[in-house]
Amino acid sequence: MKTLLENVDFVLTVDKDDTVIRNAAVVIHDDRFVDIGPTADILQRHSREAFDRIVDGSLIGLCPGFIDSHVHLSETLSRAVFPDNLNTREWVFHWAKPFYAHVSEEDEYWGALMGMTEMLRSGTTCFLDMGSQYDPGITVRAMEQTGIRGITARHAADNRPEILPPGWSEEMVQHHFFPNAETALAELRACVEEHHGALDGRARCWVNIEGKEPCTLELHVGARKLAEELGVGTTYHLATSIEEARICEQKYGMWPISRIANAGGLGSNLIIAHGAAVTEDEVELLERHDAKIAFCPSASFKLGKGATNIGKYPELVEAGVTVSLGTDGVSAAGNMNLMRQMLLFTGMFKDSRMQADVLTVRDALRAATIDGAKALMWDDEIGSIEVGKKADFVLFDLDHVEWTPFHDPMQAIVFSASTASVRETWVDGKPLYRDGRVVGVNERDVRSKARELAAAAVIRAGLHDNNVPTSSSVYDEGN
Ligand SMILES: [Zn+2]
Repeated sequence: MKTLLENVDFVLTVDKDDTVIRNAAVVIHDDRFVDIGPTADILQRHSREAFDRIVDGSLIGLCPGFIDSHVHLSETLSRAVFPDNLNTREWVFHWAKPFYAHVSEEDEYWGALMGMTEMLRSGTTCFLDMGSQYDPGITVRAMEQTGIRGITARHAADNRPEILPPGWSEEMVQHHFFPNAETALAELRACVEEHHGALDGRARCWVNIEGKEPCTLELHVGARKLAEELGVGTTYHLATSIEEARICEQKYGMWPISRIANAGGLGSNLIIAHGAAVTEDEVELLERHDAKIAFCPSASFKLGKGATNIGKYPELVEAGVTVSLGTDGVSAAGNMNLMRQMLLFTGMFKDSRMQADVLTVRDALRAATIDGAKALMWDDEIGSIEVGKKADFVLFDLDHVEWTPFHDPMQAIVFSASTASVRETWVDGKPLYRDGRVVGVNERDVRSKARELAAAAVIRAGLHDNNVPTSSSVYDEGN
């Protein structure tokens, strides 16, 4: 299949020079871009008869598909269940954990379909999912149906708290924690061997772990080593809040990233999710080891992680550390909308530092596209509009109030546009969202099933009553 999109108002290539082509054309052969340039040049190089499909791109803008570098697909059924007055540790230990412990395989499958539907409607073409409570194959099945690209995994933790908090049952703990790092890593190895490269390479599987207190130091370090051996990456939560950093300092005499670095755990195949509590020395450590940070602005806004107070995101970008963007999922963020993360990313530091040239729209667009691809170790194939790369992209409807009028497309896409003007989302040269619907699923059925399963899961997890604690001392006592 050979497709020509001609007369496209703008193409934001996000190549190394951030080239913007006006009145552009792109040629797609099957799943890849084979030519890109001004329409007049492209039509000189290609005969119109050579195409199976020609699309007029007048009043259409094109940019690379967005890459969500930190998301929990298995929490998609928990939207607006956990209150917004909880800091990270209370949120994780008293709300998220019981919810995860009561999610069934069926919940995960329909939740993943629901999440992918929201992503495709929002222009997201690729994600890094923290993983299934059961089997990454559940997510892969949902990817097969929707056509989206992504990396998934098996959730893993190996350090159960000594005293179980209220709401945690022994059965839940057995299900949620591996007995030790060795058994966890054996299972994660088997998952990568089974699922990595599935769906013609569109699905990848990594050695992901939960990270921080619920994982031993051995598991943090071992996950990255195993990932390296298997030629994949690893990601885990770390330095997610000031409380976590303080407890780490009390117990081990240093903040979380330094602790991992001291144990030899940093490396270029590691993405640290959040990384809010970071010292100046740790910025340098991350740069030296080429470790990546997945920043989730919406989650920081909701859970009070202190991104603008203790966060070093502008310094990380300045130091050359790859900072990508994640949503964290519908519980922590409330949405799976990367465009909203771009807006927050560029705005929150301009405002808090009272300096408008800190993290510009250019940085925001790169964080949501090519830097996400770098973090996911997939930038050889995705993240920018360049010849030879996969045809994963978003088309914006410029005949829309959000785009009327506009001069600079990069300003407009971050500060003016929302997902309301996303017209089509393509992956591997195929439109997966067009004409107002996600092509691979019956969206009405997915929403109906999601509502039904979500209501039941919330009751099973005991999150429907008012007795859930809103403060936490889990992992505080010397274990
Ligand atoms: Zn997370």
